[in-house]
Amino acid sequence: VERLIARTPEVLRERYDIDARVLYEAVEVDLARQRVRVCPVGEKGDALGRECVWEAFDQLLFATGALPVYPDVPGVSARGIYALSTLQSGIEVRSAVDGEMPRRAVIVGGGYIGLEMAEALIARGLDVSLVEKMPQVMNTLDPDMGSLVSSALREFGVHLYLEESPVAFAVDGGRVRAVITDRRTLPADLVVLGIGVRPNTALAAEAGVPLGVRGAIRVDRQLRTPVDGVWAAGDCAESWHLVSRRPAHVALGTVANKHGRVAGINIATRSQGSGGEEALFPGVVGTAITKVGALEIARTGLQEAEIKALGLDYASAQIESRTRAGYYPGASRITVKVYAEKGSGRLLGGQIVGGEGAAKRIDVLATALHAGLTVGEIVDLDLSYAPPYSSVWDPVAIAARQVVRLV
Ligand SMILES: Cc1cc2nc3c(=O)[nH]c(=O)nc-3n(C[C@H](O)[C@H](O)[C@H](O)COP(=O)(O)OP(=O)(O)OC[C@H]3O[C@@H](n4cnc5c(N)ncnc54)[C@H](O)[C@@H]3O)c2cc1C
Repeated sequence: VERLIARTPEVLRERYDIDARVLYEAVEVDLARQRVRVCPVGEKGDALGRECVWEAFDQLLFATGALPVYPDVPGVSARGIYALSTLQSGIEVRSAVDGEMPRRAVIVGGGYIGLEMAEALIARGLDVSLVEKMPQVMNTLDPDMGSLVSSALREFGVHLYLEESPVAFAVDGGRVRAVITDRRTLPADLVVLGIGVRPNTALAAEAGVPLGVRGAIRVDRQLRTPVDGVWAAGDCAESWHLVSRRPAHVALGTVANKHGRVAGINIATRSQGSGGEEALFPGVVGTAITKVGALEIARTGLQEAEIKALGLDYASAQIESRTRAGYYPGASRITVKVYAEKGSGRLLGGQIVGGEGAAKRIDVLATALHAGLTVGEIVDLDLSYAPPYSSVWDPVAIAARQVVRLV
């Protein structure tokens, strides 16, 4: 656990002169008087109800993150149901696995948190079921790519229940005993929820800061909100999507880190009146990566449903290749899917599922999306090749080559 903490409050104080007050909650923001009311809280965020103070500010940054979504069904607050969203919640799940010796776990939601928890719990010897309301897991992939992940989960030993949702949790003595879906009852000693997050923006909204897409705080490319002197960054803020050319909400550490850097530079520039250059956050392309067992999974840009919703005319190609030269030991299967706009040939998105070495290839496509490359230009990229790493045409270039003919 200690190794997961990048910087302690002591390091922040000593090395950066930052007064990081942990176990304090900002409960109210008074924009007119430029002050925030902060109150002490206990280890689990419970209000201690004493000694609240008003802190003054010149510049204010909202970095309140996101909150896990809970299904609105009976029994959801029972003991033994965990929404994995903070380090503390991870510690609690692990101590439940260590201390209570659960035998059967049910995971609700087949996104990356659900998948990673399924793998971790199988590794700890639990009998794991996963319930997902969509036809396949990983619905940030197209269903045909998601089905490869669903198969891998089953091979890994997970009991997969697709197109099902919990309608209630059976509770006995305050503890969860089963997940009741619209089709069956799954006995459970431990339940993990992974059905997504929503931006944590109540504090900002109550203060009158405008919200944007999916309730995230509206920001421009400098990370300024529409209120002068007020900024937002990370999971609570929206981002510009470079491919859809619309605001988007992407709750990932990759984005949060870059947001933080840009907002920090701009706040420092503004508060020091140094007249230095403002930093810009150009936007996101929706890149994400995960794994289940030996299967690597990655996506970037738009998936088919998003492209259709935007009304774009598109073509796609899906290819099967190998992660290394076919004859080289350890080569495994890789499936690459690529979308491009008809007419312009502009790359719109890509998805990769495969064995070791597959997923990080998504960064080629992510870079191409940032640069606005066409699929023809991707074919011409001077990508690396040696038999232990790739075939002479990298699978990403093979997929681009297929789609060039169709645009
Ligand atoms: C299990 C898990 C795995 C993940 N894996 C990945 C990954 O592999 N790759 C990736 O890119 N991203 C991953 N993420 C997402 C990543 O962790 C987040 O995108 C990132 O932490 C967001 O940073 P943030 O600073 O915006 O918010 P957070 O890290 O959530 O920080 C927000 C902080 O604000 C505090 N806070 C909220 N309200 C108040 C208030 N009123 N007063 C005072 N403090 C307040 C919260 O307690 C919290 O400490 C993962 C997330 C989870 C839960």
